[in-house]
Amino acid sequence: MFKQDQLSYDFAALEPHIDRQTMEIHYGKHHAAYTNNLNAALEKAPAQQGQSIEEILRSLAVIEDQALRTAIRNNGGGYYNHNLYFDILGPNGSNPEGALEARINQDFGNFGKLREKLTTAALTVFGSGWAWLSADPAGQLIVSSTPNQDNPLMVKDSELTPILGIDVWEHAYYLKYQNVRADYVQALFNVINWQAVAARYEKAKK
Ligand code: MN
Repeated sequence: MFKQDQLSYDFAALEPHIDRQTMEIHYGKHHAAYTNNLNAALEKAPAQQGQSIEEILRSLAVIEDQALRTAIRNNGGGYYNHNLYFDILGPNGSNPEGALEARINQDFGNFGKLREKLTTAALTVFGSGWAWLSADPAGQLIVSSTPNQDNPLMVKDSELTPILGIDVWEHAYYLKYQNVRADYVQALFNVINWQAVAARYEKAKK
């Protein structure tokens, strides 16, 4: 049974950038539904039971039943993605430091350029999806985007591990920002906990 990771901050802690009601519904309804639906789907997938969510998502192709594979892809992706998203947000916005900052400078020039690249990736997702910062086993950083609840773990032969995700489903921002996704993405950078991103970066490197 998978369970939602507990939030380390209150629903209102990200205001004014992310409003309390959006957080309540996003965590309490959307994330909860992905989690419940994943658990329900896994009841029909004995081979996947006992695997980590990362293992399941990296090897979706082994699930032969197409409807079951789709259910686990969508809800398992939703479960993993939202645990990551809520983990890398926090009330005290920060900037990258240490080894992560050094690698950002090496791969993108500076933090401002990475931010531009992530913003472009978030704004050019057509419909619902995610923008990602991922690391490969050598520590190289890559910006990408995926539709729906897909993520870089699912890309065939990918060795990428996502370390930061920007949810651009309308449920992530519509109550406060309506159709203006760009304002949401800009605001979100005020509440990214780069220490949490750095912790994921250290784990992603082999
Ligand atoms: Mn979401």
